[in-house]
Amino acid sequence: MASVKEDTTIKEYQAFVQEVYGLSNDRYFSLGDMLSNVERFLMRGLKGIRKGNKEKTTINLLIAFSWFMSMMNQLHIDIEERIWKRFPYLCSYCGTSPCSCVKEKIVNRLNVVIDENKRPKTLKDYQDMFNKIYPAEGRTLEHAGVHLAEEMGEFSEALLTYRGGHQDESFKEVELEAADFFSCILTTFNSLDISVAKELSATFFDNCHVCHNAPCTCNFDTVTTFKS
Ligand SMILES: [Zn+2]
Ligand SMILES: [Zn+2]
Repeated sequence: MASVKEDTTIKEYQAFVQEVYGLSNDRYFSLGDMLSNVERFLMRGLKGIRKGNKEKTTINLLIAFSWFMSMMNQLHIDIEERIWKRFPYLCSYCGTSPCSCVKEKIVNRLNVVIDENKRPKTLKDYQDMFNKIYPAEGRTLEHAGVHLAEEMGEFSEALLTYRGGHQDESFKEVELEAADFFSCILTTFNSLDISVAKELSATFFDNCHVCHNAPCTCNFDTVTTFKS
């Protein structure tokens, strides 16, 4: 039985997604299909924000997050590594924590020095780190949602550019945008005051959260009609 523990690392969660969904992803879904599913569940999550339905937002963002991790597996991106390099306990743009981008009006991205001693261990530690860099008090939940949609768009654009051009340089953009998108998911959960690791462990306690098999045996009907 595969499960996500509350003290999961990002690497462990990515490996869980591979174990449960890797086979069906490879057989049935292209990267484009998976991207559509990330977008689809993300939009449902945003609808939850507009309607003030925290539960709806949470489950849909968790599903979008898991589809996103499937994409990381298919693209062979070690997302934990990419996040740490992009956000080494500092804002990747202004190089400070808490972020001072708005106050300082930073024009060019600064080169940040990475202190390995500060590297978070678990997914929860990463979520806490993002709350230090980008405190939830600094934005509304709606603002976090709009920012998340914006990052979704930037990730899609980077991926489509790479898939069209097959250039190594564009793949680096995909990795950077993936890290930005991931950070934005965590900051949105901070705005919701919800622990992602706790919710993931409650949802994925026994393989796939719908069919409870590993590998997942949900068919396309289950995927398309799944309402949450
Ligand atoms: Zn900043
Ligand atoms: Zn399933």
